Amino acid sequence: MNFTLHGIAVSSGIAIGHAHLVSHTSLEVVHYKLPKRLVDEEVARFDAALMSTREELAALRANRPQQAAAEFDAFLDLHLMILDDEHISRAPREMIEREQCNAEWALKVQMDDLVMHFEAFEDAYLRERKTDVVQVVERVLKALIGRSGHVPPAARHGVNMILVAHDVSPADLIQLKPHQFSAILTDLGGATSHTAIVARGLNTPCVVGLHHARELLRENDLLIVDGAQGVIIVNPDRHILAEYKLRQSQFEQDRQKLKLLRTMRATTLDGTSIELHANIELPHDLAEVKENGATGIGLFRSEFLFLNRDELPDEDEQFEAYRAVAKGMKGLPVTIRTFDLGADKQLNGTKRVASNPALGLRAIRLCLAEPKLFRTQLRALLRASHYGNVKILVPMLSSVSEINMTLQFVVAVKQSLDNEGIPYNRAVQIGGMIEIPAAALMINVFTKKLDFLSIGTNDLIQYTLAIDRTDEEVAHLYDPLHPAVLHLLAHVIGGANKAGVPVSVCGEMAGELAYTRLLLGLGLRQFSMNSAQLPGTKQRVLTTSLPDIASLTQKILRADDPMKIRELLGKLNA
Ligand code: PEP
Ligand code: MG
Repeated sequence: MNFTLHGIAVSSGIAIGHAHLVSHTSLEVVHYKLPKRLVDEEVARFDAALMSTREELAALRANRPQQAAAEFDAFLDLHLMILDDEHISRAPREMIEREQCNAEWALKVQMDDLVMHFEAFEDAYLRERKTDVVQVVERVLKALIGRSGHVPPAARHGVNMILVAHDVSPADLIQLKPHQFSAILTDLGGATSHTAIVARGLNTPCVVGLHHARELLRENDLLIVDGAQGVIIVNPDRHILAEYKLRQSQFEQDRQKLKLLRTMRATTLDGTSIELHANIELPHDLAEVKENGATGIGLFRSEFLFLNRDELPDEDEQFEAYRAVAKGMKGLPVTIRTFDLGADKQLNGTKRVASNPALGLRAIRLCLAEPKLFRTQLRALLRASHYGNVKILVPMLSSVSEINMTLQFVVAVKQSLDNEGIPYNRAVQIGGMIEIPAAALMINVFTKKLDFLSIGTNDLIQYTLAIDRTDEEVAHLYDPLHPAVLHLLAHVIGGANKAGVPVSVCGEMAGELAYTRLLLGLGLRQFSMNSAQLPGTKQRVLTTSLPDIASLTQKILRADDPMKIRELLGKLNA
């Protein structure tokens, strides 16, 4: 059957490929069919994973610390019992044999079934035991995935696969990079969720907020994904397919043409020079930064070094990562943000999930609450500052006392490096992110305390409009053109320019062509965005005259009717 799905456009480009479904709970598991000859091997792989999980639990029991409570034994006994339950130990085996599917999928399906049984219990204690089932299955999955290196076979053989998931965490998505899915589709998520940001970083067409794609699509359905329009065409006929193949090659040609601007300075028609920097998540993103001609790194989201792992990176590992980027950029600015963990980027093993994680212990709040972690990162950052033009950026500041505490940490860490004779750049700049309305309103104080500022519009919009940026149910209300947002932006950019403190925008707004001229009109001279968006933005800068956009920008600022604002923006971009 041929039909169309509509979602939120996140990352442009056209992909044509086959749907590859991953399961619908927090445990994202791929599903694929095996050739008959590999079924026995798959069953053996499953048995080995069960065995190693059993050994792991037994070892935990044997080595339990003296001071551990007696419940620890009871808990391990329960997990061993669940592991031996036929839903977990026998049913998946049978399913692998019967359906010729991979072990992870079989295990996951059986787990869902078991969890459903637990959910039906009236007794609250028994209902809660479903958490134990999930934990046990997670252990077995880890054993399975660890053993196989786990790349879905079709992706390995270069067939275009399109990932279809109910939801994918940013941490999981970044791990998918080597799998090179040709597009990513999710039921949940908003355009500025970190999952969306990572998808953009992978330079892969992505549509989120599709609501029911995971249910409506079948494994191997042929899909056309138009990432710019947020449209999915399912099982298209050959005419539509031919039309989109043409559009795909046109898109690629345009992209290649824009890359020719790589070495050209981004200067407006009236001769004003604009800095176009790149956002990165990991050091290996540097290749793309260079390919797209960024004149610096405006945001290195260092927290991605901390995700997907049980042990946090120590000082030396962090230092190597920061130094590699600093050296790689050969003297160009490298703005490294201290880790912004919490909200939708949780550390492995984080126990307590706050009821409102975006308003909870996130970013600088978490750093100040975990001095050891923060000190370690600051030491690594300062050490790396000796090898390039490193600047330190602090996320989610909301008050002067947070700035003061942060600066005291920096002073103390510098002192400890001095005592050990370790070199660092004494004049390293410390900047702050403006992403909370309170910070925006206090810009005049922030400019006195900090060396530079970077506006995180993703969060600034989220917190100003009280819209969860990861929630597709309210995604239509997430509006960068809301007059309140525009006034805050004008206030921050104007305030920083007046004080002579450099200010950039590093949220997704910076890379959206629709807003380039508006931001220039508001006085912004430094943008930081996903590398792939850089050439297009440069072209827009090259065709903009600042005197020509001044009065329209003021009119937009004075308007309060959303329709009027959009109409004026259309004129600005004409
Ligand atoms: C922002 O909030 O705009 C930002 C750049 O930070 P992040 O997207 O990582 O929250
Ligand atoms: Mg932010």
